[in-house]
This record gives sequence, structure tokens and C-alpha cells, in this order.
Amino acid sequence: MSLQNYIRDIQGFPKEGILFKDITPLLIDPLASQECLKLLVSTLKDKKINKVVGVESRGFFFGTLIAQELNAGFVPVRKPNKLPYETISATYDLEYGTDTLEIHIDAIQKGDRVLIHDDVLATGGTIKAVSELVERLGGEIVQCNFIMELSFLNGREKIKDQEIFAALTY
Ligand code: IMP
Repeated sequence: MSLQNYIRDIQGFPKEGILFKDITPLLIDPLASQECLKLLVSTLKDKKINKVVGVESRGFFFGTLIAQELNAGFVPVRKPNKLPYETISATYDLEYGTDTLEIHIDAIQKGDRVLIHDDVLATGGTIKAVSELVERLGGEIVQCNFIMELSFLNGREKIKDQEIFAALTY
């Protein structure tokens, strides 16, 4: 099965000039989703990961499934003012303006072995900000994984020190 067949290109979303990779055809197909999950956990056995951090919102879908597979806890990283308890935040640059992400202060303990998961690695700004949050709380990032990497945007350059895995590469 080629997972690529379950990713739909949407031209001009969310704004003109952007070719958006839509994962909903993958989510709607149980066999393709199972295959994707299998790939995402394939490199994680024996890595003693005890926390999976998922990035709002498309990082939640497979993030929770990966956490279950690894018998690890799931931690949501969310947009501002969504998390109810005390948080720390990281702000990062977008093409126009900035964005902020938050994590609960007690979600990661010093020495936790962490996987960060998101759907897409594009320019790397998001994953870099999430990495900073995890490290500020004392977590050790074992791997960052993604359904797909848009390699032509060089996101890897922003998180050079980290192990990266993507089920699909464009
Ligand atoms: P980055 O910060 O530029 O690496 O962008 C990654 C973030 O933007 C992720 O949280 C993705 O969900 C989202 N994103 C960027 N491009 C796409 C896309 O083509 N499809 C789905 N999400 C995308």
C-alpha cells in the first residue's frame, strides 16, 4: 500500500500560493491509518519513550495512537488559552507575524523520554518551538516524527540535533 495515495493536494489553502497536504483521506481509511501508525512506531521500539507530545491539532490524531502503542502518556501542546492549568509558552515566527504554543508545566518531568509528533514538518518553526517547551521542562527528546516531511522547505535545519522520522517525504 502506498500511503502517498491517501494524501490529497489542495491548491490555495488556507491562502493563495500554498499547496496544502490534506491528511483526511488517510484518516478516513482504517487500513491506511493502521499502516501509517505501524510506520510511525516502527523505529521507536526499545527506545523507552514514556511521553508522547502531540501538536495541536493534527498532531493529536496519531499522537494519541502512538502513545497507546508505546504504553506512554500523551501530552497536548496547544494554542494560547486552551489549556486550563498553569502553562509555559513559546513564540515563533511565521511568514507574516508570530504564533504561540503552550504546554502544562507539570506535563513533562525531568528525565522523561519524549517523542514529539506532528502531522507535517514544513519550515520547522513549529517543531522547534515545541522542542524548546519540552527541554525547558527537563524532557529528553528521543525523536520527532511526522506523517510527512516537506523536505524542500528544509525544516530539519531548525532541529539539527534531533533524530527525525517521517512516514512520507515530499
Ligand atoms: P512549520 O512550522 O512550517 O514546520 O509548519 C508545520 C505546521 O504547520 C504543522 O503543525 C502542520 O500541521 C502545519 N502545516 C504546514 N503545512 C501543512 C500542510 O501542507 N498540510 C497540513 N499541515 C500543514
